[in-house]
Amino acid sequence: MGNKQSNEKQISESQISQNSARESQLSKSNITINKVSKQELLSQELIFPSSDNCPSKINVTLKGITFWSNYDSGNLYYVEQVEASTFNLSISEDCHGRIPPVQSNKGTRQWFNFKVVSVADCQANFVIVNIATRFKKIWTTDSDIYVKINKIWSRYPAVYQGFQVKFSFEFKANQIVQFAYMPPWSYKKNQKFFDFYFSQLHPDIYFRRETIAHSLEGRNIELITITKDGPHEQQEYYCPEYLFPDKQLNEGLIKFKKQYILISCRVHAGEVPSSFILKGILESLQNYNESAKFLLENYVFLIIPMLNPDGVYRGHYRLDSLGYDQNRVYNRIVKFPKFNGPLAVLETCKNYNVAFYIDLHAHSVLSNSFVYTNWHPDPSIHQAILEFPKQMKSKVVHFRIKEAMSTQINYEKNQYEIEGIYTEKEENIQKAPDLKIHFTKENLVPQSMNDDCPYSINPYLTGVAKSDVYLTTHVMFSYTLEVNYRFYTKNKQVFKYEINDFVNLGRDIIESLYQVHQNQDFIQIKSQLESNIFN
Ligand SMILES: [Zn+2]
Repeated sequence: MGNKQSNEKQISESQISQNSARESQLSKSNITINKVSKQELLSQELIFPSSDNCPSKINVTLKGITFWSNYDSGNLYYVEQVEASTFNLSISEDCHGRIPPVQSNKGTRQWFNFKVVSVADCQANFVIVNIATRFKKIWTTDSDIYVKINKIWSRYPAVYQGFQVKFSFEFKANQIVQFAYMPPWSYKKNQKFFDFYFSQLHPDIYFRRETIAHSLEGRNIELITITKDGPHEQQEYYCPEYLFPDKQLNEGLIKFKKQYILISCRVHAGEVPSSFILKGILESLQNYNESAKFLLENYVFLIIPMLNPDGVYRGHYRLDSLGYDQNRVYNRIVKFPKFNGPLAVLETCKNYNVAFYIDLHAHSVLSNSFVYTNWHPDPSIHQAILEFPKQMKSKVVHFRIKEAMSTQINYEKNQYEIEGIYTEKEENIQKAPDLKIHFTKENLVPQSMNDDCPYSINPYLTGVAKSDVYLTTHVMFSYTLEVNYRFYTKNKQVFKYEINDFVNLGRDIIESLYQVHQNQDFIQIKSQLESNIFN
């Protein structure tokens, strides 16, 4: 028999510790997804998951075997014993049971992360019965899962059959074993990483860590500043009051007389490879080699390592705690200011002189690594935009420049232009090489969540960070960087990614950004653009 209900005590114990003032707000809070005023929003800002809306957190014991997921980044919804040593496991889709579902969560059953302990030595068979069907390709290509034993994560063989993932495990009595889609990078792990990172930096490096916003459930969305130290000063800034919650009145932003490179991560909660890519970027800066030194001398790195900490904590695959895909709302932030992660990205671009923006992701469908770029009608500018993916292609064996897809959205004309430069036939037919579509308002369909919302042709094409950062803040070199969770193909052969491949991809991003600056055409176009925009 399964147990969906008996986990309330464990959940309340597992919630992140917060001060009592915030806790007292929990009982008063009753957030809605309808329109809220800014004042209402501020009063509702700090809300915590309850057992009702955090169904991914359970603690169940069946026949001497305990399964639990009520910890940071855990996700298991239901366990049922079907035979003497066989258990059916269900994972939670994002915001399971939330009514109304704000954005579709039906395809989100991919991320799982749970621990198991048995009171006696035994062999158990597990069947994850409800993996979303849209992930068939990744599971049929690589059906391994990950297992952590004695603090070490490793791949573990599983079988994908009939949209189910099956594996067996030989338990030793009282040994805790953790199973996950990938080695997790939780909210807590992220915080610990930066606690340690700071202490390892070269003495010439300026490092600053601050909270740029609180998530809806009160977790910190952090902003990390890293650069070669030099003249800087406090300056006034424009900012909605719910950003930089820890800043004192009259305390300005610290600004350097350099351009900025903004990197963000984990807007999609389960996209763990992106955190390992970021680790590689940060280690590269720490190593302070020639490329890192050049970039740190000429730029300030701004890092937002976890845009959606509530989704990460809950073990979501993609959505936030309200059921929104925060990488489809960038064009609606004025009306829905509770999206503090995306808001932090846009305000950062407005407040600092950002030259490059890279939003890190992972992909469950498309293979290899690649970037989405913005499209520009001037061919020489467009070539400059493509210089970064070209450099990546020259360094990274699994990088596919052919899969860069470019979009531009002209809100004034209500016109959307999409140019695809996909050429690989096995990929989605809509991404044909000559694809160039112009959409006008007549083609657009209203968003279902609110009639007042701006229009959208397709939730997969609008409201995305790299497009709206460009459109609203003129950061031309604005990219979404993707890597498949599990595999890449090369010369029709399939290769499995190891965690180190993601870390190395981060290092290659630093090398590529450096190489971009060795291209004189690029430098010339960049400075022309800057003189047009800023003069
Ligand atoms: Zn993503």
